Order: sequence, then C-alpha cells, then structure tokens
Amino acid sequence: MTGQQEQASGFGHGNNLTDNLANLAAGGNASSTPLMGDDEEPLIFSLSSPGRRAFQLPSTGVPDISPDTKDIEPPALPEVSERDLVSHYTRLAHRQYSVDLGFYPLGSCTMKYNPKAFDEIAAISSLKDVHPLVSAQLSQGWMEILWTLERALCAITGMSAFTLQPPAGAAGELTGLLMTGAYHRSLGEHRTVVLVPESAHGTNPASATLAGYQTKTIATGSDGCVDMASLESALSEDVAAIMLTNPNTIGIFEKDVVEICRLVHEAGALAYYDGANLNAIMGITTPAKMGFDIVHLNTHKTFATPHGGGGPGAGPVGVRAGLDQYLPGPRPALQEDGTYRWKMPECSIGRVHSYNGNAMVLARALAYILSNGADGLKRVSQIAVLNANWLLKSLSDIYEVPYGNRCMHEFVLSVSTFKRRYGIRAQDLAKMLLDRGFHPPTVSFPLVVDEALMIEPTETESVQTLQAFASVMKEIASEIEATEGASAKAAPERTPVGRVDETRAARHPIVVAD
Ligand SMILES: *Cc1c(COP(=O)(O)O)cnc(C)c1O
Repeated sequence: MTGQQEQASGFGHGNNLTDNLANLAAGGNASSTPLMGDDEEPLIFSLSSPGRRAFQLPSTGVPDISPDTKDIEPPALPEVSERDLVSHYTRLAHRQYSVDLGFYPLGSCTMKYNPKAFDEIAAISSLKDVHPLVSAQLSQGWMEILWTLERALCAITGMSAFTLQPPAGAAGELTGLLMTGAYHRSLGEHRTVVLVPESAHGTNPASATLAGYQTKTIATGSDGCVDMASLESALSEDVAAIMLTNPNTIGIFEKDVVEICRLVHEAGALAYYDGANLNAIMGITTPAKMGFDIVHLNTHKTFATPHGGGGPGAGPVGVRAGLDQYLPGPRPALQEDGTYRWKMPECSIGRVHSYNGNAMVLARALAYILSNGADGLKRVSQIAVLNANWLLKSLSDIYEVPYGNRCMHEFVLSVSTFKRRYGIRAQDLAKMLLDRGFHPPTVSFPLVVDEALMIEPTETESVQTLQAFASVMKEIASEIEATEGASAKAAPERTPVGRVDETRAARHPIVVAD
C-alpha cells in the first residue's frame, strides 16, 4: 500500500473510517495532539488511541494460524497514526541542538560540522549493501578501502600498522592496553600499573581498570603539563604504560613529551597516545616523532563523522613497527598480485569487534582524508588552532585563564571568581548560553581546573560565529555582575525544559506510560 492510498483510507489510517470518526467525535487524538510550540510534548503513549495504526496491510485471506497466544498479554505499545507518529518525533527533533544547527564548542569532543558529501559516500549502495560475510574474493573493493585507510592513518601518525576494528576511542584504549599486556607477557613480564596524568579524559583510567591494571595518577604542573618529578617518582618495573593525550585536555602541547616517552621506555613501559586531539597537529608533527608506541584515533572527532548521542564512531589503533603482531584481526593484507586477503596477525589479541568495526564510519573517514589531502589536513589543524587562539584572546580579558595565554585547538577558562563572589558555577553559565542559542562548552572538565569551561571551536566555524559567541560570553559576564548572579541561577528560561534532575533519569527511567 502506498502512502497516498493510506492517506486516502481515512483519518489516521486506523481500523476503518467509522471507528475513526467515532474516535474523533469523542475528542480522541485530534484534540489531544499538541500544536507546535506548546511547552510540553507528551509521551507517545498519551497520544495512543486503541486500534489506531500507522500502517495497515490488506487482509491476505489466509486463516490466521499463529500459535495460541490468547494467554499472552500483548506488549503495551502506543497505538498511533503515522501522522501523529511523525509529528511527535518531528516536534521533538525541533527541540534538538546539533552541529548542523549551530556552534557546538564542546571541548575534547570535537563537535565540528560534518560535510554532507561524506554521508553520500557512505550511502552508496555498493558499499552499504555488501554483506559482512561476503567472501574476500567478492569484497575486494571494501578491502581496498580499509587497507587504504590504514595506510593513510599510518602516514598521518607515523605508525606502522593499524586495526580498524575498535568502535570508539575508549574501545581503542582498551585494545591498546590489551596489546600492552600481550607485549609484556611475551617478554615474560607481569606489569600491573598504568600511569595517567591528572588532566586525562575519564576513559583513560576506566580503560586501564577494565584491562586489569591499577591506575596511578601523575600530577599536572603549574604550566598545565605533566609534572616531571611526579612522573619520575611513579616509574618502576611495575609500570606497563603511560597514557598521554597531546595536546592535552587543557589544550596545551606537552613540552616534555619526547623526554616523557624516553623515560617511560627506559623503565620498560610503553607510551600510549590518546589521539582524541590529533586534530591539532595533523601534518605538523606525529605521535611517532614524539616517541609513542601505540595510538588510538577518534575518526568521529578528527575526520568528520557525525557523533554524539551514542552514535557509531571508530577508534582505530595504530602501533609502531615491532608491535603489529599483537593487533586484533583479521586485517586486510595486500598480496603481490594486487589482490587482498584477510590475515590474522601472529600473536593477535583476537577480535575486538564483529566483522570490520563500524565500516561506514571508516568509509567516511577515508573520504574526508582523501578529499582534504595532506595539505588540507594540515590546514584543518592550523585553522582549528587559529580559531581557538582567536577565541581565547577575545575572552581572556573577562574570564580567568588558568594556564598560559596560548593554546592548541582548545582552551580552558575558569569561572571560579564568579563562584567565590556569587556562588555561580560553570554549569550555571552553560544554562545562560542555552538561553542565547549556543551549545555550551564542556563544563567541570578537566578536573584540575576549578569550575572549568573547556572550549573547542574547531576549524569549521567562521570568524563571525566566533565573534557572536565571544560577545554573548561577554554579555553573560556583565549580566552575572549586574544581577549578582541571580540571572545565572534563574537560567535557562527559554528552553523547552528547565533544569532537570541530572541523575533521576538514570535512576528511575520511565519506559512505559502509567
Ligand atoms: C573523546 C575522548 C576520548 C574517548 O573517545 P570516545 O570515542 O568518545 O570513546 C578519550 N580521550 C579523550 C581526550 C577524548 O576527548
């Protein structure tokens, strides 16, 4: 049945016309459907009207022989017309904020605008319709894509080989640490500790724990970099690896990175590079030059794949020469006759994802890399750093800058003065930004900064957008002063929902209507 036929079959495509008319006369769905702009969007369950359907097939004329289900309660699903269903979700969608809608300076997450051309490429049917169990012989094209991406990532990072299986940065971290364990076991060593700087992303200690290691925290110095004395006193024959982000999550390039890697190696440990901030250094330097052994990248951050909301990503993991035998597999291998075959690395830690990971995300990443080329990627990083410094400079006379007055691709401000004076926290300021149509920066992270606002403008924003954001940030600061904090505590006032209880949704999820 086509959409038009459904439409013609009556109100809301329900059971039949009479039912629907009766329902309408009784003040059914039509009157309870909220108009756009109403404050409350009801749960889909309260739009439900018995017997109403989005889609109806004509009767087959064949007797129903489904198993005896009369004692089984059908699930309490909402009964709605297609029209109500689409409107409900469209109304909700209009309340969303996204990278397509505007500036999204969520530090560390790299929420840049993603050009649509790469979605088109991932939608090509000869890519997306290939079954993952198709033989190597029939999926040579896909294998070439994966192999080419692996080579490209090697060129960008200076590593020797990659696995494309891990579905996110955090999964890449776990993969890298499992390989670290395999490497040390091969030397007959049992090392138990992973070093993580104080400023690190929370996934670093979480991955270390999941991989069976103890985490030891390294202090951050007053310049925002790893405190070398703290590192040296933590190094021992128990240390398996250090996990380092560079530039770090404060947006500062670790000035001692070469020495850090040297000391770590001297202690027999491996240096793991959290590549979430690779978008600051592409074409300028590489983790290999810094001395790292294992690297994860976040293709959904650096190479333009839509992400957020738990959507698919990819966290390829690269290794220097000498560690490739531990990589997960199978991996595509180029043979002398120019064809590809699947190959399991000799001492592989095994699979870390079904098939080839999130292949569509990988196709987007390759398309992004090839369309930018080496020069383009370098320019991406240069502009990301330029934008961040432009914004830092515009805000540094109003907000406290805890570390230095230069940054890489992101920077951290602190609103601790507002906290002392008026009890205003970083998240209050974030709510004021929501009222003014901007997605807030990351708040309260990194933990080494009191009341942190972590701002990452990315390279996709124009100077006009940065100016608009800077002037709103100035306006907010003056308003906090003028109202002695009252306006910050009242915000948000213009969003569909106000302040929510941030833990209740996790503790008491409502999954069915009463
Ligand atoms: C985002 C991020 C991660 C985790 O990556 P996911 O892809 O979200 O799993 C790890 N470290 C840093 C510094 C990050 O910004």
